[in-house]
Amino acid sequence: MTGRVAVVTGASSGIGAATARRLAAEGFDVVVGARRIDRLEALAAEIGGRAVGLDVTDQASVDAFCAAVPECAVLVNNAGGALGLDPVAEADLDRWEAMYATNVLGVIRVTKALLPAIVASGDGHIVTVGSIAAHEPYPGGAGYNAAKFGVRAAMSVLRQELLGQPVRVTEIDPGMVETEFSIVRFGGDEARAAKVYEGVTPLTADDVADCIAFAVTRPSHVNIDAMIVLARDQAGARHVHRHTP
Ligand code: NAP
Repeated sequence: MTGRVAVVTGASSGIGAATARRLAAEGFDVVVGARRIDRLEALAAEIGGRAVGLDVTDQASVDAFCAAVPECAVLVNNAGGALGLDPVAEADLDRWEAMYATNVLGVIRVTKALLPAIVASGDGHIVTVGSIAAHEPYPGGAGYNAAKFGVRAAMSVLRQELLGQPVRVTEIDPGMVETEFSIVRFGGDEARAAKVYEGVTPLTADDVADCIAFAVTRPSHVNIDAMIVLARDQAGARHVHRHTP
């Protein structure tokens, strides 16, 4: 396994950064992509990997990224996130389009571009970070729910289309993970973001990286199709137990 190339998108923060660290520790030659290149370069220096700028919504950026990665065995499609918590009646459609552009089309764009290299590796693996939001709609979640349901459908199709090829396809669907996710969702409002995790012991980015590493390090004939992972304090998208102080 040592020396196989693993690409992690959205590795400048949260789950992606934790996954890059973990896959490097597992012996992969890790290539990290995201828009904030300064953060990526610091991470790459730390883990002995390579940093390449990437905007998954921009075809030219994806083409340049893939040109820099001629070999790839493992792709972790992690770049994504939510924008807002708007009810359908008040939907900001620009934000909804941005969520689809990143979480759905971005995943498909990067996967399509790297697929020839992944197949050619002879033992490829495509892991997509979905969400509990891909399984359970919740009020205010429609834009993000639809995006994560959409990418789950697309990756399920891919699993069927690649049957017979030496490529595994896995979806990891976390619940509440304390990262920059909620800060981004609420437009930089850190107080509102902090409320999401108040009184709760959420998952950490490392917990999710652990699940990704588990899937990737199974023997080649074993495909973890999907894994839903929630904090003990969360029983579904809408049910959260908050501890009283
Ligand atoms: P995060 O800390 O906000 O990280 C998101 C990452 O995505 C950043 O590295 C960001 O990098 C990257 N990204 C966003 N747009 C991008 C673009 N257009 N091109 C390339 N990279 C882009 O949040 P996170 O929690 O780690 O999120 C990672 C994934 O987990 C997302 O797909 C999210 O939907 C999913 N998820 C999160 C939770 C949660 O509760 N945290 C739960 C379920 C699923 P740049 O801004 O530098 O480009």
